Amino acid sequence: MNWTVEKLETEALGLCKKSFNEYSRVALFNTKKILHAFQRCRISEFHFHGTSGYGYNDVGREKLDEVYATVFKTPSALVRPHFVSGTHALGTVLTALLDKGDELLAVMGTPYDTMQSVIGCKGDALGNLISKGVVYREVKCEDEVYSLDKIANAVTANTKVALIQRSRGYSSRMTLTISDIQQIITAIKERNSETICFVDNCYGEFTEEKEPYEVGADIFGGSLIKNPGGGLAPTGGYVAGREELVRLVANQLTAPGLENEMGSYVPGYRLFFQGLFMAPHVVSQALMTAEFAAAVFTLLGYQVLPKVGSKRSDLIQSIFLRNERNMCSFCEGLQRYSPVDGYVRPIPGALPGYVDPVIMACGAFVQGSSIELSADGPIREPYVIYLQGGLTFEHGMLGILGAASNLIEQRSED
Ligand SMILES: *Cc1c(COP(=O)(O)O)cnc(C)c1O
Repeated sequence: MNWTVEKLETEALGLCKKSFNEYSRVALFNTKKILHAFQRCRISEFHFHGTSGYGYNDVGREKLDEVYATVFKTPSALVRPHFVSGTHALGTVLTALLDKGDELLAVMGTPYDTMQSVIGCKGDALGNLISKGVVYREVKCEDEVYSLDKIANAVTANTKVALIQRSRGYSSRMTLTISDIQQIITAIKERNSETICFVDNCYGEFTEEKEPYEVGADIFGGSLIKNPGGGLAPTGGYVAGREELVRLVANQLTAPGLENEMGSYVPGYRLFFQGLFMAPHVVSQALMTAEFAAAVFTLLGYQVLPKVGSKRSDLIQSIFLRNERNMCSFCEGLQRYSPVDGYVRPIPGALPGYVDPVIMACGAFVQGSSIELSADGPIREPYVIYLQGGLTFEHGMLGILGAASNLIEQRSED
């Protein structure tokens, strides 16, 4: 079929209508939840100001923890610009909870690339968990689906922490829905009620009505330059969950004894609060962008995951582009529609924490932000591009049509 960009746009929008209504419904629900939390925590303008030095009595920092804990319905939360990334927040949880001889079980197969470096199951990063004597095992996800029996059978009396990764990272398994997470946690706890269920919640926040603690997780965490930062948070990560566990994480981030009572941030906290307030809407825009991309690339004859009309529990849209050249063209097209660095041509390169070369399109206001429209993928079989983000659907649509038109042009040259 000979597609024009105009025809693609019309047909794709037609395919997306029903899903778009569902995303709006969830965004409304989560906006209510956030408003309620801001009101209950009595957020005022003076909470937005930063402090300096030790940051004793930094009410902005304290309120930010409180409002996140209220939104996530957890006893405790630790929300910090001092987490340099999602990996840092999640890695701090693992380091805080696991001692020599303790077992970490990754129940959804091999974890996200940067987490492999933290754990030490790939690469030889200095100070990784395995090198410190943590015992690591993973449950394989055969045929890209999880088996509750296999997960339960893998849990032993020595399993201290079970790592449950919600989003699928650079793999082609299904993303876990909140209901999947609930079933997995139940299966683990039936085997060993002491096992700490730790959810890597990256890209999942506000895509559904519930968050992991509400379905039994002990602790979870993620990045502030993804969903919960709403595109405004300039940096950082969060951890939320049971109080004694979050305390351990706070002492790991700072130092034993300092707990969550220190840490200043001179620029202040307004963007973190405002970003959280915006997050449900921004997440809905990113979900619309993902769904639209699924529709466009299905029409163009590429395999996509998830398919149009499926339930989404994260922001990621995989597009199977079949070769390196298509991956590069896609990223060039998307990058051309970026507000920042729109003149730049992306090429594959090495990234810290990643094993294979990665190509990335990201013309974002916040460096590397993936709640902003972005795409990336490791250059390896099966040549998948992972698209995510989009602060506004209008921009998401333009970027995707830009990427699509590059591929249409390239095909006519072949
Ligand atoms: C993004 C992500 C992380 C953390 O990545 P950072 O880039 O360090 O924030 C961890 N796990 C998953 C599944 C992710 O998507």
